Amino acid sequence: SDSHFPVPISPSHVDYSLHYPHFFSSSGEVGSIRKVQFADVGCGFGGLLISLSTLFPETLMIGMELRDKVTEYVRERILALRTTNPGQYQNVSVVRTNSMKYIPNYFEKGQLTKMFFLFPDPHFKEKNHRRRVISPHLLDEYAYVLEVGGIIYTITDVEELGDWMKSCLENHPMFEALTEEELEADPAVKLLNTATEEGQKVARNEGQTFQAVYRRIAPSL
Ligand code: SAM
Repeated sequence: SDSHFPVPISPSHVDYSLHYPHFFSSSGEVGSIRKVQFADVGCGFGGLLISLSTLFPETLMIGMELRDKVTEYVRERILALRTTNPGQYQNVSVVRTNSMKYIPNYFEKGQLTKMFFLFPDPHFKEKNHRRRVISPHLLDEYAYVLEVGGIIYTITDVEELGDWMKSCLENHPMFEALTEEELEADPAVKLLNTATEEGQKVARNEGQTFQAVYRRIAPSL
C-alpha cells in the first residue's frame, strides 16, 4: 500500500541530487538549478527511459512506477548502465510511487516538457475506468505540471483504451493534437512502439497499436 513508500509533501522536498548526482555535483553545473523535464508514467522495466537518456543527454527524466520490485529493477539497471558507460545515463532515474495520486507532489506547475503513458493497464470494466491513468480529471493535473507547448504521448494495443485516451485528450480544453508533420519530426514518437518492453512484446506478436500525442496549449481567453 501507499504507506510503504515515502511521499514528498511538495516538489521542493524531493532531493533530486540523490537521483542525478552527476548533474548536482560541484564539478557539474554549479548554481544552476536543474529540473526534471520528462516523466515516464508507469515506466515498467524502463526501456523508454534508457532510450530517451542518450537521445536527450542534457534533459533530466524520471520514471514513476507503482510496483516495488519493478522499480528496484529499473534503479539497478540504470546504476549498471552508469557503471559500464562512464558519463552516460546520469540524467535518468526512477521513483516508486502512485502516479494517480502524487504527480503534484513531484512536479511544479509548468515544469515538465514531456509526459509518457506507454501501454498503460486497460481496466476494461466500466466501473474501473476511474482507475485509468488518462481521464478528464487526471488530464487537469497533467496540464498543470506540463509547460505550455509540452507534449503528452500515449500508446496502447487495446483499441478501446486508445479511443478512450484520444477522446479524453480531444475533449480537454488544454490539449490539441500534433499534426502529421509534427509527429513525423518528433524523435520521441519513433520510440513509442519500439523502446518499451511492452511495446516490443506487442511488436513481436504483430499487434496493432493506437497512439494519441497532444500538446498542452495556453487557455483561451
Ligand atoms: N510503460 C511500460 C511499457 O510500455 O513497457 C509498462 C507498461 S505496463 C502494462 C503498466 C505499468 O504501469 C506497470 O508496470 C504498472 O505497475 C504501472 N502502474 C500501474 N498503475 C500505476 C500507478 N498508479 N502509478 C504508477 N505506475 C503504475
